[in-house]
Amino acid sequence: MIATPYYNIDLSKLQKNLASLRSAFEALWPNFQIGYSYKTNNLPWLVKWMHEQGVMAEVVSEPEYELATYVGNQPNNIILNGPHKGLSNLLLALKNGSIVNLDSFAEIDFIEENIKSFTHDIKVGLRINFDLERECPGETIPGEEPGRFGFNLENGDFDKALNRLSHLQKVKVVGLHGHHSTRTKSLRIFNSITKHLCEVSKKIPALEYLDLGGCLFGDKPGTPTFEEYASTIVDILEAYQISKEVQLLVEPGAALIASPVSYVCSVIDVKDIKDRRLVFTDGSVKHVASQMKAPPFVSSLNTKSSNLKEKQIVTGYTCIEMDRFLTLDNQPELAKGDRITIYNVGAYTMSLTPLFIEYFPTVIVTDENGNEEVVREKWTTKEFIQKSKL
Ligand SMILES: *Cc1c(COP(=O)(O)O)cnc(C)c1O
Repeated sequence: MIATPYYNIDLSKLQKNLASLRSAFEALWPNFQIGYSYKTNNLPWLVKWMHEQGVMAEVVSEPEYELATYVGNQPNNIILNGPHKGLSNLLLALKNGSIVNLDSFAEIDFIEENIKSFTHDIKVGLRINFDLERECPGETIPGEEPGRFGFNLENGDFDKALNRLSHLQKVKVVGLHGHHSTRTKSLRIFNSITKHLCEVSKKIPALEYLDLGGCLFGDKPGTPTFEEYASTIVDILEAYQISKEVQLLVEPGAALIASPVSYVCSVIDVKDIKDRRLVFTDGSVKHVASQMKAPPFVSSLNTKSSNLKEKQIVTGYTCIEMDRFLTLDNQPELAKGDRITIYNVGAYTMSLTPLFIEYFPTVIVTDENGNEEVVREKWTTKEFIQKSKL
């Protein structure tokens, strides 16, 4: 038995998520490609697996670009986004033909300054920024505050950017990027983003791709399906008579990796204080909700106990009071050695886990026959002190 705590990746669920996303979109728009969002979960095994499945790498930093290259992606298989691409990295990506979605004027300054060093034409995309909150009230993350990524449509920045780039003979604007992180991941959001991309695309004669970004739901019950996202988006592309030659890109992270990952920890002790049963484990809220706002998790218990307990609070190994991540009502009474599994924790968990008190836990992959493979051993002090001077 694998020592706890550990993350478990359910391989068949991962395969199913990817296949159903692909088929939903390809059925309606054959020229379709997925860029997997590295920041959502950058486990080396996972990003290599995505590459092996023919998925592009969506990266937002120099280290992520480097990791994508390290696991075998050719430059033209990498989408480089974000506000801090690293200037030498940006230059490399442009010269080698990655998809690059520009985010700010400093990047255009940089391209102008380096224009002489381009020995061939380069292609760029522009990320758009617009008042999504006005069209989808209450749905965006910044709310009334403006979104901070990309070139704003309403204040003229986008046109200014386009105009500046049009004066550079070696630079061709070929794409538009519309990612927005939202609270709701709703069809209305994608409706609004797609409309703006299509509207703006009238200004891009050499259009090669429209990139809708990520922030879609996956297989969570009661949420839009991949088919519904695809038809919402494609209906608008068709209404705007976007050529079928134009590539449709999406950049999912959570939709692919949230549901295949579970987290297993063991009970190490219990205490009764006031009218509460406190259950201590070798796991932590930091591994499943790094911001410490533990949502109501789906969980299962591996215990021999049949005695039901009215209320048990499951807590973690850290010395933080609020390291409490599960409230169990009328569940079997947990005892030392019992195991607890928490489901749907693949997104923004491993990649946000701090090296706080303990180091990174083990990660395993379980295939459809139940075979378990360790794909990252737990970190020890040896990995922790690397590059340190003692
Ligand atoms: C975060 C991010 C994504 C992925 O978001 P998910 O919610 O994990 O799907 C895609 N594209 C960009 C530009 C991002 O910043």
